[in-house]
Amino acid sequence: MGKVGLSLAVICAAATCAIAAVMVGRRVKTLRRWKKVVAVLEDLEEDCSTSVGRLRQVVDAMAVEMHAGLASEGGSKLKMLLTFVDKLPNGSEKGTYYALDLGGTNFRVLRVELGGDSSAIRKYDVDQQPIPQHLMTSTSEDLFDFIASSLKQFVEKQEVSELPEVKSRELGFTFSFPVKQMSVSSGILIRWTKGFAIGDTVGRDVSECLQQAMSKRGLDMRVAALVNDTVGTLALGHYHDEDTVAAVIIGTGTNACYLERADAIIKCQGLLTTSGFMVVNMEWGNFWSSHLPRTLYDIDLDADSPNPNDQGFEKMISGMYLGDIVRRVILRMSQESDIFGHVSSRLSVPFILGTPKMAVMQEDESPDLREVARILNDVLEIPDVPLKVRKLIVKVCNVVTRRAARLAAAGIVGILKKIGRDGSGSITSGRIKVGSHSEIRRTVVAIEGGLYTKNSMFREYLNEAMTEILGEDISSHVILKVTEDGSGIGAALLAASHRFVGVENVQLL
Ligand code: ADP
Ligand code: MG
Repeated sequence: MGKVGLSLAVICAAATCAIAAVMVGRRVKTLRRWKKVVAVLEDLEEDCSTSVGRLRQVVDAMAVEMHAGLASEGGSKLKMLLTFVDKLPNGSEKGTYYALDLGGTNFRVLRVELGGDSSAIRKYDVDQQPIPQHLMTSTSEDLFDFIASSLKQFVEKQEVSELPEVKSRELGFTFSFPVKQMSVSSGILIRWTKGFAIGDTVGRDVSECLQQAMSKRGLDMRVAALVNDTVGTLALGHYHDEDTVAAVIIGTGTNACYLERADAIIKCQGLLTTSGFMVVNMEWGNFWSSHLPRTLYDIDLDADSPNPNDQGFEKMISGMYLGDIVRRVILRMSQESDIFGHVSSRLSVPFILGTPKMAVMQEDESPDLREVARILNDVLEIPDVPLKVRKLIVKVCNVVTRRAARLAAAGIVGILKKIGRDGSGSITSGRIKVGSHSEIRRTVVAIEGGLYTKNSMFREYLNEAMTEILGEDISSHVILKVTEDGSGIGAALLAASHRFVGVENVQLL
């Protein structure tokens, strides 16, 4: 080989080495940024841990807070509000009733005909529309005018074929925000949640606001029951199954109510109800305990929210927030490494990733995770995400959903513990005597809300956690029953069961 040949060979070897070095360097870099992204997931998994031990601590905390909230006004973050509902529908209700459901993304009007025979909800017409965004932050008058005119249109459409006799119509008004109830049909708004912010409604009787708007439009209708969606759900659950003792909503927001002994409501000494019971609206979205597994993302989400330090449980559990927690994790991943290439500004937009979209990613069973790629591209403007990163994103969705479902299960068991149906009390607790032996009592919890009813993985995780916490034996006697449209039909049922009732159904001695 000549001199020229030799130097050519040396140059080639050097070039090969350089290329190899660059490639190795790139691989090392890729590996490093991949590890950083994986670390974000691993930290999330650790911080969201919901071992059965931790869930039991949440159960205990829930029961303790319930006691505290019943003992004194402001005794707990759980408001444990009196509903003045002291009897639940039992099937004997008769007549035509209207219901109005305001409490989340949609607003609904219903008409229900009851035949006085428990299974016979004869007619059931619904009109549903989204609340126009601008009305959620407008004035009280604008909102209630909108509701009253929708209601009037609905009534006119429904009654067009009927005799034009003037009849007084009874309405059940489901208003799913924290209300301080004064009677079964009136109550003052404590504060808005779920994205509503209308300053001049707070502190006012919402039944009266509606009543005024209806009168303005010449609509002859009386608010016979002002209830929360959970109370409506409990009413419908009880109408169909008398073992129903509690109701839980897991939709845009989350809340629960249950049947409590009147004498256990210590903050209201001398409370007398006809039945000896009263439905208590827990407002459990505001539950807080140091045992809740909180992450940096929850802290940031809370700080950026219009209601920091409030609705802490809801912010970990409900449909309004889960998608946004996932968005925050993906944003963090993109900041930790350039795994997504150029970061889209869409990723920084709060609530751009809704929980239903998140659920689609989580449930994507296609081999190449096509739906995940589509949503990342269409919603977050992140194109060409490699398959292994898509898999990671599915895991993130799963961790966030699983934590939410398991915490909701712990909350439900907390209620069962408070009313002695979790099997943890004395040998007789939660049992009934049958002949010479005792049997575990059947306990039904009515559940409603899009996150529970439409997301099968959420449901499975929740059910699984119930069994883990309660054990097979007890949990086989606890039935979680989907009670859809409880927030609508239930309110109409309560309007029926409380139609002749004034404030005097409940006395304070
Ligand atoms: P609301 O709570 O507003 O009265 P719903 O009970 O229907 O109404 O719940 C709607 C909420 O449920 C949505 O805001 C969304 O967060 C959640 N949701 C709806 N569908 C799904 C789904 N497929 N997977 C997960 N969450 C869902
Ligand atoms: Mg609802």
